[in-house]
Amino acid sequence: MNFLKRLEIQGFKSFAAKTVLEFPARIVAVVGPNGSGKSNIIDAMRWALGEREAKQLRGETIENLIFAGTAKKPAAGFARVALYFDNKEKNLPVDFEEMVVERKVDRSAVSQFFCNDSEIRLRDLVPLLARARLSSRGLNMIGQGDSDVFVR
Ligand code: ATP
Ligand code: MG
Repeated sequence: MNFLKRLEIQGFKSFAAKTVLEFPARIVAVVGPNGSGKSNIIDAMRWALGEREAKQLRGETIENLIFAGTAKKPAAGFARVALYFDNKEKNLPVDFEEMVVERKVDRSAVSQFFCNDSEIRLRDLVPLLARARLSSRGLNMIGQGDSDVFVR
C-alpha cells in the first residue's frame, strides 16, 4: 500500500468538479496532453501541504488557484484539496490508521487546514508533516524541469 493513498481535488485550478485520484499501486503515472492539468496535480499536493507562495504554485495570486470557469462551467467559489495518507506504520504522529490533510480557500482568500476533519493551524501542521519528512518544498516532490538537480 502506498503512503499516499488518495487525493481529492475540487475547485482547484483546472479541476472544476470534485476529482478523486486513488494510488493503490507503488508506481502511478499520470499521462495526458499538454496543458491537461498534470502539473496542477503536483501544485494541489504542494498547496495542501502548506505552500503559501502563489508563485511556487505557478499562480500570480491565491485567487488564481481557484477554478476560474469556462464558457460552459461557472467559476468555483472555493478550492479544496485533501491528501489521504496511510498511517498504519505510524509515520505520522496521530493515533489514526489514516491521516487526512485538507486545505480549503475561498475567494475572500480565507484559507483553512484540517487534519482528520479537525481544523489545525499551519504552524501546528508543519511539524506534524515533518515527522514523515513531508513538506511543500521537500525533495519528495520533484517538479517538471527539476529532475536534473540529481545530475548536476
Ligand atoms: P504540460 O504537459 O504542458 O506540462 P500539464 O498537463 O502539466 O501540461 P498544467 O500546467 O497542469 O498542464 O495545466 C495547465 C492548465 O490549467 C491550463 O489549461 C490552465 O488554463 C489551467 N488552469 C490553471 N489555473 C486555472 C484556474 N484557476 N482555473 C481554470 N483553469 C486553470
Ligand atoms: Mg506540466
